[in-house]
Order: sequence, then C-alpha cells, then structure tokens
Amino acid sequence: MCGIVGYIGSQNSAPILIDGLKRLEYRGYDSAGLGIYCENRLNVVKAKGKVSVLEAKAEESKIQGTIGIGHTRWATHGIPNEINAHPHFSSDETILLVHNGIIENYAILKDFLIGKGYHFKSETDTEVLANLIDFYYKENNDLLEAVRKALLRVDGTYGIAVISKKEPDKIVVAKNGSPLVIGLGENENFVASDVNALIAHTKKVIYLEDNEIGYVTKDSYLIKSLDNATLNKEISEVDMDLEELSKGGYPHYMLKEIMEQPESLANTFRGRYIEEEGIAKLGGLFGYEERILNSNRIIISACGTSWHAALVGEYLFEQYAGIPVEVEYASEFRYRNPILSKNDTVIFISQSGETADTLAALKEAKRKGALTVGIVNVVGSSIARASDTGVYIHAGPEIGVASTKAFTSQVMTLALITLLLARMKNMSLEEGKEIIQAIQELPAKVQEILNHNSFIKKVAEKLSDAKNFLYLGRGIHFPVALEGALKLKEISYIHAEGYPAAEMKHGPIALIDENMPSVFIAPKDAIYDKVLNNIEEVKARNGQVLAIADKDDDQIDKLADYSIKIPRTHDMLMPILTVIPLQLLAYHIAVKKGLNVDQPRNLAKSVTVE
Ligand code: GLU
Repeated sequence: MCGIVGYIGSQNSAPILIDGLKRLEYRGYDSAGLGIYCENRLNVVKAKGKVSVLEAKAEESKIQGTIGIGHTRWATHGIPNEINAHPHFSSDETILLVHNGIIENYAILKDFLIGKGYHFKSETDTEVLANLIDFYYKENNDLLEAVRKALLRVDGTYGIAVISKKEPDKIVVAKNGSPLVIGLGENENFVASDVNALIAHTKKVIYLEDNEIGYVTKDSYLIKSLDNATLNKEISEVDMDLEELSKGGYPHYMLKEIMEQPESLANTFRGRYIEEEGIAKLGGLFGYEERILNSNRIIISACGTSWHAALVGEYLFEQYAGIPVEVEYASEFRYRNPILSKNDTVIFISQSGETADTLAALKEAKRKGALTVGIVNVVGSSIARASDTGVYIHAGPEIGVASTKAFTSQVMTLALITLLLARMKNMSLEEGKEIIQAIQELPAKVQEILNHNSFIKKVAEKLSDAKNFLYLGRGIHFPVALEGALKLKEISYIHAEGYPAAEMKHGPIALIDENMPSVFIAPKDAIYDKVLNNIEEVKARNGQVLAIADKDDDQIDKLADYSIKIPRTHDMLMPILTVIPLQLLAYHIAVKKGLNVDQPRNLAKSVTVE
C-alpha cells in the first residue's frame, strides 16, 4: 500500500533510492529499507520509522552499487519493526524482494514452503513470496519466469520489484492491485509505485496494468502479461508538476483519500468472505466467533468518527445478528466504572490504534474480564496489540486529519462481522449471498457517486456562506448525519448538528429559517415517507434543503432545493454510500472558504492525549 523504488544504471543507486523514498513519504508508512547489489552480494539496510533514519543508516553503512530497490512499508502482516521491513530475502539470500499489497493465501503458501525446507525470519506475507519465487528460480534460473510462476499461485494484491544476485543486470516488476510504473532514462531505468519518485530523473514512463509483469535492464525493458504474452506498451509523458504529484495528483490528502474509497473498500473486504456459503471469513476472529455470538451483549466503544461507525455497527448487529448492543464514548466508558463480565464482548474502534481514551477503555474492559476486540487501521498499534483479538480494516494510510476512507472501511468491517455472526444465527444462505454480491458491487457504486464531484462542488459553493447547518437522518442514517456534521465542523469551522430527523421538532426546528440549510439523508428505505414529512416541515419554515436521495427518486426533487443522487445497495451497506456526498460537501465548503483542509486548526490525526 505504500512505496517502491528501484534503480538500474551506472550511478550509485543508494542516494537515488533514498531520494525516491522521500518523494513517496506522502503515501504514509511505518518503516523503510533498501537493498543493493554489489560484487556478488545483496546488501540490505532497514529502519523502523522515517526515511531520514534509513538515510543516516545507509550513509553509515556505506551501502552502494548500481542496481537497487527501496521500500516504504505500511504494515499489514507483522508489526512495524526492522525484521518485518522490506526488502525481504529468500532463505538462501539469492533473491531480494520489495512488495506493496497483501498476499492473501500466504499461510497456505508458507506451509508449502516450510515443507520444502524454507525458513522464515519475519512475520510478513511478503517473505513468503520471496521464497516462492526462489522455489521456482531453482527450477530454471530465470528470474522473470520464476516470478511469473510464483505469481500464478498468489491470491491478493501486489506491486513488486525483485532482484537476484545471479542476474544482477535486471529488476523484475509486476503489478496487481497496487500501482507500479517504469521510468525510462538514458542508459538508466527506474521503477516506482508512482511517478512522483521518478520525475526528478525522467518524464518518460510506462504504467503497468494489473496482471502484468516485466523487467528493466539499464538500457532495455520487456513487459508481458501474467499468462506469458509479450506486450507492446505505450510510453507516456508525465505532465503533472511536483506540487500536484506529492498528493497523488490531488490538491489535498483529504480529497485523495475520499477518491480512493473504491480501492480502500475493496482492500477491506478482499478475501474476507466465502461466496458459496454466504458468510464472512475473518482470520482475526477465528476461534472467537462463538464467544462473540453468545455474548450477553456487545459494547462498541470509540471516539469521534469511529464512534459514528460504532453507531452504525449497533444497527447492524442488532438488526441482522440479533445481539443487544450498546455504544459508548471511550472517554466516558473509561471513567464510568462499567459493569462488565466475561460474558460481554467489547469492540474498540480506532483508525490509528493509538487513541488514548479508547486504549484506556480497552484496558478497563480487559481488567473486568470482557472479551476485547480491536478494529483498527494501523497494524501493530497499541490497541491492536492490547486487544484479545481483532480485525484490521486495511484502509491504507490516512493522512488528512478529517477521517474519510477509514470511516467507510470501519463500517465495511462491521458489516463483515455482522455477516459472520448473522449467518451463524438466523440469516439465510440466500441473504448472505445477496450481501456478498452487494459488497462486491459496492466499489463501482462508490465510484458512481465520486463521479458527481463537480456537481457536489457547485452545491457546496452555494451553501458555503451559511453559519449553521443541520444534518438529519433516521435509523442507520442517523450516525451518517452525525458524521456529515462532524466533517463540516472539523474542516470548515461551520457549526453543524446531526440529529435523528424526527427529533427536529423537539428543539432544533426553532433554529430553522432561510439562512440555515438542512441536509437530509433520505434514501428510499422503510422510513422514507417519514423523512419526507420532516423535509416538508423544514420547507414550511423557509429552510433550505439538500437531500441525499436515490437516483430514481424524482419526488424529492419537488421538495428539496438541491438533491444529490446516489445508487442503492443492500440496506446494510447504505451508510457507506450516503456518507460520501457529505464528505465531498464538507471538503468543498472548506476549500471555498480557503481553509487548511488537511490540517484543520486545533485538531490532531491521532489523539494520544485524554
Ligand atoms: N503486506 C506487506 C507487509 O505487511 C506489504 C505492506 C505494504 O504494502 O507496505 O509487509
């Protein structure tokens, strides 16, 4: 999910690789490393933390050579430490590999390789791939072919760069799901996970597509499909400037992360269900399923955006799995002397896995004997380590302070847990399969909403002078209303409140006039008619209404001043769709106001204080 660079030519590769890694830092990472061929040896330097630490170590070690690969890692398998950092060697140190992505069937492959005498030093899925390549390399000493054969056995995502001390004239690369691009120079060539790392050297690039594999030497390249057909790829000219590139082509991380959601959601659910059984498969919960299912109740505890995801989780678990749920602010839970027993399950949600209040609440729950489950993004974070078990959301690094893709991945994770528990209880095979199909179709539907970005921007610009906003939703969309209001507050500093739509008449209705827009989340579900009534109530008081509605809903256009249309999915997943226009709305309002979207005042990304 993070960064790869590679160099082959006649210069010393070490400073080029370090410079490339620095240009990939914006992607977020937890450790870094590089591996360079020199005089029949592959030398490696790795460091936990920043590329600057790696740079100091590389200088000290005097590592050098004209062919090398570098990596920034965002841990998915194994905590961020030096051993798990890339590059990874094959057992006999013939091959060196850097990898972005996830090898899903790594456990089966690892058993196979252990049976063949391979040994492993790290906890990563990547080292399995290094050894699998080596296994095929031993057959015919052809690195490209060995990589190709190994990848045919891999399920998962990868962008990889591989070198071998037996063929020190080439870097082999391949891509599936994670990006990879080749940069063509004069008597030197480059590889990287994005052009950002290349454009200091060349603007001539070749983008690899999924299931493509190839190599670069210092003055040639070859690209094939994974099924071995040679491809004639187009060479592109990069015309973005450095400023744009540092955020993957977007003006802000927040927009980049909003736009990434089709991909980040796919990373959350990929490999996590068994289609024919209509059930989710979550390795992290293995062996704990019965205990969770038979809990007296589930408590979900979190802060901020994660707390909104928790509220969605409450609807899901109660409605589909029939388990009583309570949602608690972690900051309250920790000081409230909660009554807990070993028959309770407490789920803790945190993007960073370091949220101080959530961590303290977790320790309290553990002390009282409850089963603790972490739902976090950052692998090896404190909450991941302290909880009894858990599920990583695999949203990839989130840098914008206002959380977006982590929220949708948290909800997706809760939906997967619901599917698991519900299928173990009352949910039919048919409904389970329907949900899986809806999950598979979700990234395309998210993309459909993202394609309305310029329309949403226009709406945002019309509303950007308002001083107050109301966000209203019912049922599973009440938490989405809260989340929409929070996004707006966080980055635009406009006062916004989220309410269950029916609560409006018990107070907030007094605020409504022509200056206060109300944002209604109004998909056509069981309580749609009731939401329409609430919209009428606002209109009757001259309030402006923005409705998030189904794409075939013409009726709402007659009522609302603005409507943003979205596709439908299974009810369980609807919050993932309804929240996206609200993320974009907040984003564009903040941009219109000229505010620092990525680092809003007074806020921190990972709240490690009480
Ligand atoms: N799955 C690999 C690991 O955990 C690669 C992670 C990445 O994309 O950086 O080491």
